[in-house]
Amino acid sequence: MTRIARLAGLLEEPLLVAGPPYVLGGQANVRYLTGLESSNAALLVEPGGGATLYADFRYAARAREVEDVTFVETARGLLPAIAELLAGRRVGFEEAHLPFVGYRALVDAGVDAVPTAGHVESLRAVKDEGEIAAMRRASALSDEIFGALAEERFTGRTERELAWWVERGFREAGASGVSFSTVVAAGSTAGSPHAVPGDRAIEEGLLVTVDAGCVLDGYCSDCTRTFATGELAERLAEIYRVCLEAQLAGLAAVGPGVAGRDADGAARAVIEAAGFGEEFGHGLGHGVGIQIHEAPTLRQESTDVLEPGNVVSVEPGIYLPGEGGVRVEDLVLVTDAGCERLTQFSKELLTVE
Ligand code: ZN
Ligand code: ZN
Repeated sequence: MTRIARLAGLLEEPLLVAGPPYVLGGQANVRYLTGLESSNAALLVEPGGGATLYADFRYAARAREVEDVTFVETARGLLPAIAELLAGRRVGFEEAHLPFVGYRALVDAGVDAVPTAGHVESLRAVKDEGEIAAMRRASALSDEIFGALAEERFTGRTERELAWWVERGFREAGASGVSFSTVVAAGSTAGSPHAVPGDRAIEEGLLVTVDAGCVLDGYCSDCTRTFATGELAERLAEIYRVCLEAQLAGLAAVGPGVAGRDADGAARAVIEAAGFGEEFGHGLGHGVGIQIHEAPTLRQESTDVLEPGNVVSVEPGIYLPGEGGVRVEDLVLVTDAGCERLTQFSKELLTVE
């Protein structure tokens, strides 16, 4: 069954899938359903299964090639044009993606616009064979870059310099881009989970967290490794050991039928038992696919239950403000039996120069 047909099976009323131009998140669902990569397209899916694709003339040639949809070329102002065409109808819209200005265009034209959430995301959460193959390739490329990075000198270079080294490596190896700005966080910079690479030279005796991902064939990879620049103070060595143990506990917990919050809890219990519970301030992981953050989520407040075909990150971290931090992250595929690691680069603490 096509993705559009599966979506139609979830609907009680027509759903307008539309997002703001130039925001990947807004257009990711259109791309997932149609294969059309665009900054300005929308798709109306009828509960009976028919679908209409709207785009302006820049995308018209490619939009006409999309199978099983009726294509309607619109003005560049996509939503006002669609609103005119749908006047008087009751139509669902995605509350997380439609900008308010688009909503207002629908309402002003007389569309009975009804908010909906999560239909396409629930389909995207379960990857098909082609998607899994793309994510394996993206993860293999990530392994290659992390392997090469481990041979590089860290000390005396800046976090920004190494971050660019990683990003250039991805692009030169064929990636179409990075799935998020590469994080290289040394010493006290790594004491915060969302560190921004800076311009100070990396010194000896630090933990250096590198969180990086590429986009290959439209799918993201996501991997974090933490390296040591020489001999570490005992407390830094300890948080590495604890974090790795927690990550392995998280991996062991991930499997079909497991609640996202329980997978999180399995890793969190290890970190709490070691006395660092307060220093693990984020969730265990998130779904990855067309976007770097998608369903399902693995965190304490998650209501998601894992199923085969989910691709999620498993990434506990421990952050000691002013001292340093550690995070170890793999991307895994949920299988019928448990999970399979897609990122396979070594998780032993690697000492770099
Ligand atoms: Zn990451
Ligand atoms: Zn991640």
